[in-house]
Amino acid sequence: MTSFSADRSYAQTLDAADQLTHFRDRFVRPDWEDLIYLNGNSLGPLPIRTQARIAELIDQDWGVGLVRSWDKWLHQPRVAGDMLAEQLLGAASGQVIVCDSVTVNLYKLAWAALDFRPGRDVIVTDDDNFPTDRYVLAGVAAQRGCELRLIHTDMDEGISEESLVAALDDRVALVELSHVAYRSGALADMGQLTDLIHRAGALALWDLCHSVGAVPVELDGSGADLAIGCTYKYVNAGPGAPALLYVRDELQHQLRQPIWGWFGQRDQFEMGPRYDPAPGISAFLTGTPDIMGAVAVEEGARLLGEAGMQQLREKSVALTEYVIALADEWLAPLGFTVASPRRAARRGGHVTLRHDDARQLVQALLRTNIVTDYRTPDRVRISPAPLYTSFTHVWDGLDRLREIAASKSYADIPPEQPLVS
Ligand SMILES: *Cc1c(COP(=O)(O)O)cnc(C)c1O
Repeated sequence: MTSFSADRSYAQTLDAADQLTHFRDRFVRPDWEDLIYLNGNSLGPLPIRTQARIAELIDQDWGVGLVRSWDKWLHQPRVAGDMLAEQLLGAASGQVIVCDSVTVNLYKLAWAALDFRPGRDVIVTDDDNFPTDRYVLAGVAAQRGCELRLIHTDMDEGISEESLVAALDDRVALVELSHVAYRSGALADMGQLTDLIHRAGALALWDLCHSVGAVPVELDGSGADLAIGCTYKYVNAGPGAPALLYVRDELQHQLRQPIWGWFGQRDQFEMGPRYDPAPGISAFLTGTPDIMGAVAVEEGARLLGEAGMQQLREKSVALTEYVIALADEWLAPLGFTVASPRRAARRGGHVTLRHDDARQLVQALLRTNIVTDYRTPDRVRISPAPLYTSFTHVWDGLDRLREIAASKSYADIPPEQPLVS
């Protein structure tokens, strides 16, 4: 490998050596060539195979088969869950199911975890965790008369082991943390933090929204008890696709979730008088699951698995290193700073840059068909998803950002109301 240069030809050299370039052709993108999409951590693009499966589901399974298709649809939440488990999550089959949203699954698992640790009345999470995580846990704590203990996390560096340890004691029932921080992309050491949580006698619940499909995850190997995660980000399963839910094998029969629905019932179609949870992971279903979404999850996970999570991670690290190198070279003199961990081992799939006019810069990029996103208070997030992003896209995207920042061509975009702090 030649050493780093800020010339565009260097990006082309890296692309020529990339074994994964052809995966880009597996997506539906009529105007792919005009678009630089650096926002796959928000909504992934549509795989061709997913489009075909959904079309078949609508035309044949629903259109012709009608209710008879439930014989096969009934299995879909587990089929999709097992595909995620095997391809992306380092989990044996039968431990992941696909249903509901991350928000609802978090509620279900947090409630179940508190019941599992009677006498303990504290939930721990961090003050920079994703809003829905903090809100749901605050709600569960309020409803159950528990305490929500927030550890302080540096917005750019991620969870600190010391502050976690300081928050752990024998009152803690559950610790819920994001594996990859949504804003900075900081990657937590799941195995190490899970050990610390277990030593305090609490359960560890991991939010994988920004890690599933972005970094290799080892749920079984790390000893994690519970996990939740999105499928519409790096798994490319489409807007509102159902979320994943993982419960470690040994815990499945010991935990009881609070929504006693008929899809979680043993012998569902007996229509029995009382709720009796199904054996295994199916007990964590609630009502009729979203089948189209679960088909899209299966295909999204299959496609990532075909590329291989290790290969994807290698390319992802190279891409984010490249973003940082170009940012240092071009953008630092224009008022940007890198607001993600610089050590690749501590970084997930995206890089965040800080700039006073971040919000306007993101808008100005969008006008030129370069999609990134803005996060409060002053961050630009750049997510070069390795399945469909080239080094040349990164070069072109950052070159445009440099041009816009240097010329201040975003000056006509009104800054939003200043945030009250
Ligand atoms: C995207 C994201 C969510 C979204 O939750 P939904 O219920 O799917 O809306 C939750 N947590 C984290 C960490 C996220 O990044």
